[in-house]
Amino acid sequence: MRTENSTLPELLAPAGDKDALISAIASGADAVYFGTDLFNARIRANNFNLDEAREAIMLCHAHGVKAFVTLNIAIYDKEIPRVLEYVKSLYESGVDALIVADLGVMRLVKRYFPDLEIHASTQASAHNLDGVNMLASLGCKRVVVARELDKNSISHICSGTDTEIEIFVHGAHCMSVSGQCLMSYAMGGRSGNRGECAQPCRLPYTLGKRSFYPLSLKDMSLAGHIHEIIDTGVASLKIEGRMKSSDYVGGTVSAWRRLLDEKRNATKGDFEYLEGLFSRQGFTDGYFTSKINESMLGIRSEENKAQTKAQGTAKMELERPKINLYARLILGERASLRVTDGKREAIAYADVVEEAISSPMSREDIAKSLSKLGATPYALGTLEIEKSDNIIVRVSSLNALRREAISALLSPKREKKTIEHVAKMRKRNSRKIRSALFSRLDQIPQNSDYFDIVYIYADRYEKNEKINGICLPPVILDYEWDEIEAKMTQAREDGVKYALVSNIGQIERARAHGFTLVADFRFNAFNGESIDALLELGVDDMILSPELSLPQVRDLPAGSVIAYGAFPVMTTHKCIIKESVGCEKCKTYLTDRTGAPLFCEGIFGHRNIIYNSVPIYMADKQEDISSYSWHFIFSDEKRDECYEIIEAYKNKSSTSKRIRRIKS
Ligand SMILES: [Zn+2]
Repeated sequence: MRTENSTLPELLAPAGDKDALISAIASGADAVYFGTDLFNARIRANNFNLDEAREAIMLCHAHGVKAFVTLNIAIYDKEIPRVLEYVKSLYESGVDALIVADLGVMRLVKRYFPDLEIHASTQASAHNLDGVNMLASLGCKRVVVARELDKNSISHICSGTDTEIEIFVHGAHCMSVSGQCLMSYAMGGRSGNRGECAQPCRLPYTLGKRSFYPLSLKDMSLAGHIHEIIDTGVASLKIEGRMKSSDYVGGTVSAWRRLLDEKRNATKGDFEYLEGLFSRQGFTDGYFTSKINESMLGIRSEENKAQTKAQGTAKMELERPKINLYARLILGERASLRVTDGKREAIAYADVVEEAISSPMSREDIAKSLSKLGATPYALGTLEIEKSDNIIVRVSSLNALRREAISALLSPKREKKTIEHVAKMRKRNSRKIRSALFSRLDQIPQNSDYFDIVYIYADRYEKNEKINGICLPPVILDYEWDEIEAKMTQAREDGVKYALVSNIGQIERARAHGFTLVADFRFNAFNGESIDALLELGVDDMILSPELSLPQVRDLPAGSVIAYGAFPVMTTHKCIIKESVGCEKCKTYLTDRTGAPLFCEGIFGHRNIIYNSVPIYMADKQEDISSYSWHFIFSDEKRDECYEIIEAYKNKSSTSKRIRRIKS
């Protein structure tokens, strides 16, 4: 069971279903997180419905465990009223925090439920100190930082902010930087940002001459770094696994509980036990220790599966905690019931106790009503009744007393709210500009004056009369700013006006240089509220996600559509290319099972971008997007191809190449 030790970070466990929840609590989790069947990033987990969520929250609270609910997907505009109803229901059920990815949802929760804690999901892509502080300014009390961070980056963030920092310590890794993966969406229409990830990263690919699993990472485990983790100053340690069994949850949580309580690193034996519960050819700590290489890759082998089967654990059960009840039923006073579990207490009141006209209530009658605890997580300890003779109290009043007192013991008192959210009438801004991001300087063609803004990646910036914008790379860790700062200074001196920012942790610095800011599609601004949030943070305009359909774009008050180009489907913290063809040019093609080539290029920080195999092409469908600003993405196109594409848009030409359209 859980031990009281205030110097330790919180141990946070997943609960994909009721059995996993029970295992997590019984194994010593300080807090659990789960999704419901609404608005969460694991729609394939069993999840809870709203009533089950309420029960789950009560069960947690009865055992002194906190309950967080995931609301960590991007939300469409038309879903906002339902999201608010949903939050209201969770709020009234006593949820301790919501785990939120969408900037618009953060804003709404802060507006309507100011006393409800918000945790920024790892899907919000915070990987540096500025990002954490920006999310705090939007109302987040805690930020779950990117899984790719190394130990020093985590320590740096923790020492630079009062915001609670949560890290993943055990469980599945995504190959893509969290919140920046469009691969599942691009390949089969199942959006990771909407909780529908089909895990194409776990499939084989061909890279150079090799066919292997270059996108499948081993599960992480930082169980060998307990002291270092505690020293970073993080507030919470998250175990991944809402899709995993209750055996996995129970075993993993108890192992971590033990390591934390004993303040020791996992031994070989501990790792064998953890691997037996679930692994993909062992574990990796590569990001935490900055040892980023091919040994991080792994798949779920037959051997691993056999290992897990062999190690079944017993189903866990929870004892009901005992509570003591004190009823006070004195003639002429309000009836009251005080309950305590030994640590906390709560009291509820009912009507004034009246004199019985015919048959007074017996002590037994009263005890019978008050001790009905079957629907609660508790068992009865003692029941004391202080009463006058010859009184009558309605059974319904006694039942209400019991329910109210126990409910107050289980959850903080929260007012019933009436939310009157009136969707803002929004008129789309009439701005129609054309912008383009070129990956390399040598791509920019003669006719680039077709664009109002021409961006180049900041680290590749050189003075050039065609360029009036820089694009900040998708990930800039705190120790990587110097190079980018120098480029920003240089670009401003050369008169470059625009900065395309890729992450919430870049807004502040780019603004300080005096750039006009445009937020890239990487912000996943799916709704008007998130667009308003970005505008308030100082962004002037934004590129909309390629996941949005034309009718969804129409609902939004601002933003460019991606009118041309293969868009990035993954941004990886590690160089995949190195492992097959070497990094001489750090460019290659990854071939998927259908034979489609996905362009991969090395970018700032020796990360990789993997692009969709088929570009968006709308030159001959311009009337569909004529009322919006347009953004073009050039990735592996050569300069003359870029030239031809621009001419095609000038002439509204069709093409015989494989293309994709913006969803209509
Ligand atoms: Zn490379």
